[in-house]
Amino acid sequence: MKKVAWEIQSLSLLPVLKYCKKCGKKNVFVCSEQFRINAQRKSLDVWLIYKCSSCNTTWNADVYSRVVPQAIPQALLDGFCKNDKELVKQYAMDSSFLQNHGVEAGLPKYSILGERFSFSEDTEVEIKNQYSLPIRISSAVREKLHLSQREYLQLVSEGQIESVPGQNLKKAKLKARTVLILKGKKGKFL
Ligand SMILES: [Zn+2]
Repeated sequence: MKKVAWEIQSLSLLPVLKYCKKCGKKNVFVCSEQFRINAQRKSLDVWLIYKCSSCNTTWNADVYSRVVPQAIPQALLDGFCKNDKELVKQYAMDSSFLQNHGVEAGLPKYSILGERFSFSEDTEVEIKNQYSLPIRISSAVREKLHLSQREYLQLVSEGQIESVPGQNLKKAKLKARTVLILKGKKGKFL
């Protein structure tokens, strides 16, 4: 069977949906990609700074709160000081880190890397979604293969698209790794 790999690539960090006091409504807060370190005599705070997209009001997401400085390895502390990009990503792409702060992580703009193909032969598609972005399987397949909602639903009901293990292909979202089998039907969709 032909094998194809797709990868969901996020085009920005996760947008945060949060009530902004100054705007008086729920707004999108954007990660500034900067940490702030506050050192008291015997305790350290580390925050990742977000800004309201309308008014620039800041929101500090606790990374470390009132810890003894020795509790943070030096290399990690250096990373916070330098606003290391990978370190920023580690927190700002982690929806459970954001949920633990009582805010909602939105869906960033994304693209789907990988080969586009027709239904001319049986194809196994492995979809990697490293940051578990909440995208429906149907959206990813339709977008990548340029299918209308109607075409997609027809393929599902005819059993031409299946997931391994079986999931509800109308509603299920992509996991970190999702495997689909698309069955070729010569001529029909070419
Ligand atoms: Zn605001």
